[in-house]
Order: sequence, then structure tokens, then C-alpha cells
Amino acid sequence: MSRDPEDELQALRNDHLFRKLRTIDSPQQTELIIDGNHFVNFSSNDYLGLSQNPDIITAYKSGLDQWGAGSGASRLICGTQRPHQKLEHLLAELKSCEAALTFSSGYATAVGTITALAKKGDILILDKLCHASLIDGARLSGATLRIYPHNDIDRLNSHLLWAVDKISDTDGRIIIITESVFSMDGDLCPLNQIVSLKEKYGALLLLDEAHAFGVIGKGIGLADDLDLADQVDLQMGTLSKAIGLSGGYLCSSRSIIDLLINRSRSFIYSTAPPAATAEAALTAVNLMVGDEGKHLRARAQANIQQLTTAIDQIEETSSPILPLIVGSSEEAMDLSGQLFEDGFLIPAIRYPTVPRNEARLRITLSAAHTGEQISRLISSLAKLLPSR
Ligand SMILES: *Cc1c(COP(=O)(O)O)cnc(C)c1O
Repeated sequence: MSRDPEDELQALRNDHLFRKLRTIDSPQQTELIIDGNHFVNFSSNDYLGLSQNPDIITAYKSGLDQWGAGSGASRLICGTQRPHQKLEHLLAELKSCEAALTFSSGYATAVGTITALAKKGDILILDKLCHASLIDGARLSGATLRIYPHNDIDRLNSHLLWAVDKISDTDGRIIIITESVFSMDGDLCPLNQIVSLKEKYGALLLLDEAHAFGVIGKGIGLADDLDLADQVDLQMGTLSKAIGLSGGYLCSSRSIIDLLINRSRSFIYSTAPPAATAEAALTAVNLMVGDEGKHLRARAQANIQQLTTAIDQIEETSSPILPLIVGSSEEAMDLSGQLFEDGFLIPAIRYPTVPRNEARLRITLSAAHTGEQISRLISSLAKLLPSR
């Protein structure tokens, strides 16, 4: 007899890995309403608070008025509406690339890009902590995968040595895949060293800047901040985190982008995002790289200082992602539950999102948090943590 879904759910519950959706009756801002109660949200990726920015909302509305609600079909079928093209030009310019392509999500970008560029016989080398979208794309591509321990440059080097030997005499590709800011740990990859290695061995580099765009340096990302944009073959990111909207992008050479337009299945076989979203993204990205963005990044940084100075167990990272590693899923769920009772939404991040026994609370800060909201979190953590 085929297995009963209820048995599978029970197994998840037994392992404290069962997940359920929580309905929210308010915008995704720092203060949330759940079942009529108010909570402070420390779990969003809206690092600059742009999801609620009035100028971006106005641009979205005028985009709707001008272009309508839906986009009709995929961009190869119905044509590319002008705002998509403008947005891609802007992204390519900021990332110092010849061209860019936008997708309906970062997930679709990762899967569509990797499967279009890699196939059986190619070799993909990924950091152990790469996001699920990168892993799924890598698996789906049919290429050979090699994983190196998180940020372990020696192991990356030995995988590259092996890969170069393995594909010699073929026209195979080697692609290194990493994030710039890691999504669950908030730390950075050693991009200078990775770029040196990729040059040495003639590999390509795909850098996922999902959590760096809007955050690192001038907001453009780590490759730009370290002046390495020219050496990163594929700069990926999302408009759904610090940009506050939705959609993903890939910036690269003209020929790679043309190849994606021809081969990337998540681009070809998916309806274009509404043009209004692209209009809003144009406004948001311009705002993010301008003075207002700079001011918001400074605000976020002050908030990070306030929290990390007060709570020893939370180490400062290079980003607004501040993991509080707890250990078992059960303990992480307990702490998250206690914080929820105190009025904070900070979900526990458990296996398989993070390794087993590294369950954590992933606290994210935004420029939109007030000092008072952070003080309240500090008091609550000071009360809950020593007893653990
Ligand atoms: C969130 C995320 C994605 C996916 O982006 P979406 O726009 O949310 O689909 C890809 N890569 C990383 C590292 C992410 O954190």
C-alpha cells in the first residue's frame, strides 16, 4: 500500500520539524498583527524597509495604471514590456555587466540559469551552505557536483584541481557557485580568494548576491564593493529582499544572457512578472543606490550595533542577518515560542534549511526597526538566554 501522508507528517512532528503557515493581517512591516495581537517582526529580509516605502508604492500604482495588472504571457510570446527592458539596463549598468535578465523570482533565476549553462559532463562546485535554489538548479542540470565545506578555500582548490583534470580534452565547463552574504549565517564568502582560484583554473563563477544587494558597500553588492565585478562571470540576485518587491536577476555578458533567453526554462515557460512590478523595481533600485539608500544602510548598521553590543551570544556579522545558534530543533522551537509570547516574531530555522544540531533563531534587522523595538528584544533575550 502506498504510504500515508499523515504518517509522514507525524514523523516530522516527532522530530520537531513540522512547519505550518501563520496568517498575518497587516503589511509586512516591523509591527505585525497576528490573531489581533501586535508583534515586532525580526524575521523579514526587507533590510531597508523598502516594501513599505511610499515612493515605491506610488511607482507601483502608476505602473498598474499605465501597463495594467497582468503581463499576458511569457516575454518571448507576448513581447517584452518596456519597464522590464529599462530595469535590465539599470541592473546591468550597476553591476558593470553587458546585459541582465530578470526572472519572476530569485529561485527561478538560480534554477533557470544553472540548468541553462551546465549539463552532463560539466562540473559544478558549490559551498556547503548554498541556498536550496542553487542546489536544486545544480542537481537538475545533470552536471557532476562537488561540495566544499563552508568558505573552505583549500578544499575548493583541491576540487578545482580534480575538476580540471577530469574535463581535460573536453569542452566541459567548471562553475563555482557561492553566495556573497550567506542567507542563514550572515557571513561573507572570501571573494578575492575565490576569484583568484577561478582565474587560475579557468572556471566560471556564479555569485548569488541575494542578501548583499541593497546591503553591502554602496548597495550594489560584494563584487562591486571589492571591485571584482569584471571577474565575476554571473552576478545573481533578487529584488525580493532589500529591494522590497519580488523577482530575480542575472547579470553577465551579452552572449550568456542571450543563451539564457534561449535556454532557461524558468524564463521561457513562465509568464512575465507584471510590468508594474518592474516599474516599482526601477524606482526602488534607484532609491537604494541613492542618498536615501545610503541613509537607510547607516540606520540598519546602527540597529545592528545596538543589538550585538547588548547580547553576547549574538555575534556581529557583515550583514543584518544575525544568527543565534541554539542547537537542537526542539530548543530552537522553545526559544522561538517564548519570544513569541513576549511579542516577537523570530521563527526557528531548522533542518533541512540549516544543518542538524545547528538549529537557530535567525534574527534579521532592518533600517525600519526603532531603537525602542530593539531595546524590548534585548530585555526579552536577556531574560530568556541565561537560563539556557
Ligand atoms: C531568497 C534567496 C533566493 C531566492 O530568491 P527569491 O526571490 O526569494 O525567490 C536565492 N538565493 C538566496 C541566497 C536566497 O537567500
